[in-house]
Amino acid sequence: MSNINTLGSFKNFTDNLDHQDFLMPVLFIGHGSPMNGIEDTEFSRRWASMAKEIPVPAAVLVVSAHWFTKGTHITAMDFPKTIHDFGGFPKELFEVQYPAPGNTALAKETASMIHSTNVGLSHDWGLDHGTWTVVRHMYPQANIPVLQLSIDYTKDTKYHYDLAKEIYGLRKKGVLIIGSGNMVHNLRMVAWDKLNEPEYGYDWAKQMNQTFKELITNGSDDKLIQYQNLGKEALLSIPTPEHYLPLIYTLGLKGKTETVSFFNDKAVGGSLTMTSVKFG
Ligand code: ZN
Repeated sequence: MSNINTLGSFKNFTDNLDHQDFLMPVLFIGHGSPMNGIEDTEFSRRWASMAKEIPVPAAVLVVSAHWFTKGTHITAMDFPKTIHDFGGFPKELFEVQYPAPGNTALAKETASMIHSTNVGLSHDWGLDHGTWTVVRHMYPQANIPVLQLSIDYTKDTKYHYDLAKEIYGLRKKGVLIIGSGNMVHNLRMVAWDKLNEPEYGYDWAKQMNQTFKELITNGSDDKLIQYQNLGKEALLSIPTPEHYLPLIYTLGLKGKTETVSFFNDKAVGGSLTMTSVKFG
């Protein structure tokens, strides 16, 4: 599949999709430290190689842990700004611009697919670091439209799983949907002095990582939705839900018989995992 992804090409691209059973993979990506956005790490290298392994998307839609809102919103501007939503990092990171276009038509189409709520068209958000630190490694030319869908913090986990199912059809249109968060994400317990120590994970984090992988592989979506019942390791891994819910979106988006594969399957800083999943 080859296509040129310029602004406004989304409709042409989808019109030209000739095989009915085409289905874009879905990715959950553990984004970790914002520094992965500018550093050549084993994680950022894998994001880049993953982009080469999957079809070139018509557009990228990211559900980022860092856009946590009342109600569900989608970025609908022609040129989303690069948002530097962090503090205490080097100037170099604040200077990064990722000038990918948006796609207003796709934003409206996605909003119209979702019937469980009225999706707001956002003209003030942009691409936060949950999106650009990852996507700039995948598509460094910034020539593919990138949109974000927010996470409604007033809703329960099942709501997000069901909402994701409503936009399953985007996969058939060549849209790459990425959930960007971290399955195990306890910032309060991070061993900052060991962030660069390879595969440094607390026992509970490594155990939960294993449990997550087994439940995902087995299709135990109900257990993953009711993560509060998975024991104290789960509560330590998910002290707040925003980095976990992007995974729930990808679970809702997967088909019944899809290949599941893991990458960047590592703990860092004791209480974070970079473990990422490809469905399809
Ligand atoms: Zn984050």
